[in-house]
Amino acid sequence: MLHSLTISQLAAKLASREVTSREATQACLDRIAAVDGRIQAFTSYNAADALAQADAADAKIKAGASHAQFPLLGVPIAIKDVLNVKGHPLNCSSKILGDFISPYDATVIEKLKASGAIIFGRLNMDEFAMGSSTENSAFQTTKNPWDISRIPGGSSGGSAAAVAADEAFATLGSDTGGSIRQPAALCGCVGLKPTYGRVSRYGLVAFASSLDQVGPFTKDVRDAATMLNVISGRDPRDSSSVSEPVPDYTAALGSSIKGLKIGLPKEYMVGGLDPEVKASVDAAVKKLTELGAEVVEISLPHTDYAVAVYYIIATAEASSNLARFDGIRYGKRVDGDSPEKLYGNTRGQGFGPEVKRRIILGTYVLSSGYYDAFYLRAQKVRTLIRNDFLKAFETVDAIVTPTTPTAAFKIGEKADDPLQMYLSDIFTISCNLAGIPGLSLPCGFTKSPKLPIGLQLLGKPFAEETILKIAHAYEQATDWHTQRPGL
Ligand code: GLN
Repeated sequence: MLHSLTISQLAAKLASREVTSREATQACLDRIAAVDGRIQAFTSYNAADALAQADAADAKIKAGASHAQFPLLGVPIAIKDVLNVKGHPLNCSSKILGDFISPYDATVIEKLKASGAIIFGRLNMDEFAMGSSTENSAFQTTKNPWDISRIPGGSSGGSAAAVAADEAFATLGSDTGGSIRQPAALCGCVGLKPTYGRVSRYGLVAFASSLDQVGPFTKDVRDAATMLNVISGRDPRDSSSVSEPVPDYTAALGSSIKGLKIGLPKEYMVGGLDPEVKASVDAAVKKLTELGAEVVEISLPHTDYAVAVYYIIATAEASSNLARFDGIRYGKRVDGDSPEKLYGNTRGQGFGPEVKRRIILGTYVLSSGYYDAFYLRAQKVRTLIRNDFLKAFETVDAIVTPTTPTAAFKIGEKADDPLQMYLSDIFTISCNLAGIPGLSLPCGFTKSPKLPIGLQLLGKPFAEETILKIAHAYEQATDWHTQRPGL
C-alpha cells in the first residue's frame, strides 16, 4: 500500500518514477478520509493546496531534480499545530487564537520546503503543548490507532497518531518534557527530540523556552535521521540554536554497535513501572547485548526531583510566554470596558483549564517571596540533574530506559487527576532539563489489548548520531516497527 511506505521507500519509488508525488499525496488524503473520522489526528488540511505542491514536486522530478539534492522531494509531511506554516491556520489547539493565519514559515518549515517536502495539514495537540494525552485540546481528543478507546499520548498526539495510522509519511512535533517521545512510544513510531540548540525554534509557539525542541515522528529510524539532516543547524533568528556542524545522520546507520557502552539507570527500573513494559525493556537490553553493546548499571541520583523541578520551571516560563495572548495582538478578542477587563475576558474565555492551571502555578513560583524558594531552587536542582547525566556520560556512550511507565491509558482515565497525568512523563522529563537528545522507538507490545511499548535512548549533547546508530541496529534486529494497527 502506498500510504504505508517509509520516506526512504517512497523516495526510491518517486526517483524511479514508479509513483508520483500527486499519487503519494492523494494516498494520504484517501487514508485520512478512510480513518481520520475515528482517529481525529488532523484539525484541518487543505487538499487542493497539498496537491498543487505535489504537482510542483512532480514537475521538478521530471526536470531531473534528485533526492540526493532534495532529500524529501515529493514527500507529504504533516505539522503539529504549534509551528507556523505561511498561509495555514495556527491554533495550538486553543480557542484563543481564533482564526489566526500564519504570516510566515517557521525555520524548520522553510527547511522542509527547501528539501522538497509537501507540507500539509494541522495536527491536533494538547492546548499550547501542555498535556500528555491530547485531552487538553480545545477541539477534539485524538484516538490511539491501536485502540481507539485509548489516548495517543501528548502533547503531540496528533503527530504520533497520523504516522502510526499511515496518514502522513512523517510529521513534526515539539518536545518540552516528552511530547515527542511519549506519544511516539504509545503509538508505536519513532520520535526524536534533538539536543537543545540543534534545531531552530524560530516560528515555534513557545511553551517553555529553555526546554522546547522541534523534532520528527517517523515510521523507522532511517527516516528520523533523514528528517534530522534537513531540520538541523544554526539559525540567526533563534539565538539558542548553535553552530555545531551538522553531520549526515544517515551515514552512521548500519555500522556495528560492538563495544559501545550503554547505561541502564537503576532509578528508572523501579516503582510504578508496568511489568509488561519492564519485560520488553529487559528483552531489548538483552538484544543490545547480543548485538555487541555492553550494558552497565548506572545511577542518576537526582531523578526523583525531575517532575517537581520541571513543573516549576516549565510553568514559570509558560506564564511569561503566554502573556502575549492578551486579546490585543493575536487572534480572538473578548471586549471589556477597561483594558484589564478585556485581558481578563479574552484569557478567561480563550484558555482551557490546564493552561490556566499552568499560568497560575508559574506566576506563583515567580512571585516575590516565593521566587527563591521555588524557581531559584528548581534551577539549582536542574543543574544537579544535568550533572548526573554528564557524569554518567564520562563512562557510557548512551543511556537506555523505558520511554513511559505504562502503555497507552484509557481516554478519561487521568483527565481529572493532573498529578497522575504529570507522572506519565516521569522518564522523559529529565532529558529536557539536561538539554540532551532522546529518541523513542518501538520495543514490543502488551498482550491484551495489543498496545505498543517504547524504548528510550538518551545521548550526549549533540551525539544524535550515536543514539540513531544504536536505535537502527536494534530496529534491524527486531520487527516491532513493521507491525501496523488494524484500522
Ligand atoms: N506532558 C508534559 C507537559 O504537560 C510535556 C509536554 C511537552 O513536552 N510539550 O508539560
